[in-house]
Amino acid sequence: MRIDLHTHSNRSDGTTSPRALVRHAREVGIDVLALTDHDTTEGWEEAAAAASQEGLTLVRGIEVSCKLEGSAVHLLAYLPDPTYEPLAEELERILDGRNARLPATVAKLRALGIEIDEDDVRRVAGDAAGIGRPHVADALVEKGVVQDRGEAFDTYLGSRGPAYVKRYAAPLEEMVRMVASAGGVSVVAHPWGRRYTHQALDEARFAALKDDGLVGIEVDHQDHDEPTREELRSIARNLDLVVTGSSDYHGEGKVDHDLGCNTTDPDELERLVELARASAKAAGRTTPEVLLP
Ligand code: AMP
Ligand code: MN
Ligand code: MN
Ligand code: MN
Repeated sequence: MRIDLHTHSNRSDGTTSPRALVRHAREVGIDVLALTDHDTTEGWEEAAAAASQEGLTLVRGIEVSCKLEGSAVHLLAYLPDPTYEPLAEELERILDGRNARLPATVAKLRALGIEIDEDDVRRVAGDAAGIGRPHVADALVEKGVVQDRGEAFDTYLGSRGPAYVKRYAAPLEEMVRMVASAGGVSVVAHPWGRRYTHQALDEARFAALKDDGLVGIEVDHQDHDEPTREELRSIARNLDLVVTGSSDYHGEGKVDHDLGCNTTDPDELERLVELARASAKAAGRTTPEVLLP
């Protein structure tokens, strides 16, 4: 069984529709797929319809933009009740922060002599629920300013780049508790993908996050080299946290992140789904049922 628990559609910064994503997953032999767009559940319905047609198991998820001690941390929230008001409001606040950032980003690019306006970015963002730097990058590619998203981040949009603008992100511990209250489970995405988060997210911190309700660590991810994976795997083992692996697929938007390039062990998925059922029961929320193949 092939299980990929972290992917994006064009409802965030992926380049394929939820339906096309599910079809592609089926073509490449994925049995269980999680759709985890940034800060939105907008793609869930279309993905669920496609999954039932294609005979693929869909796990509904969100990759929530969080912060810990000033550093960005991404939290994969699986199977929360999307109608849980505090969660819905917090996602709205994050999306508002994304959209509010656009004028400032465009102003910085214009100050650098690049002729770009907000509509150029909105046009390429298409169906996305919120605008991200990858959409600004796509607009820069379209204008011939850069070759690809990678060059746009390296030259302008990265956190040390001249067109970088901060935005709102949810406090990590609060979000872990909120996901549990929404009847879902949370897994820290690519925790050591970047050096600055490495320091804050040590074993003691994972233990504290587990007390807040964290259930897992995304260990197998392209941003982690082999020694990193081994170290994270041993932390997960020590703390009895679920280990996940996934592609972080973005369609054409990210190279070297093909569907299924990392996968999750079926036993780990089973634990994750069981924990989600327990979470929903404890929180008294109705959450989507996952029928494992
Ligand atoms: P934002 O959410 O608007 O702050 O933008 C961050 C997003 O940009 C992440 O979710 C990544 O998927 C994407 N990203 C970051 N670095 C790169 C890169 N070098 N190439 C392509 N996409 C990137
Ligand atoms: Mn992304
Ligand atoms: Mn991420
Ligand atoms: Mn992602």
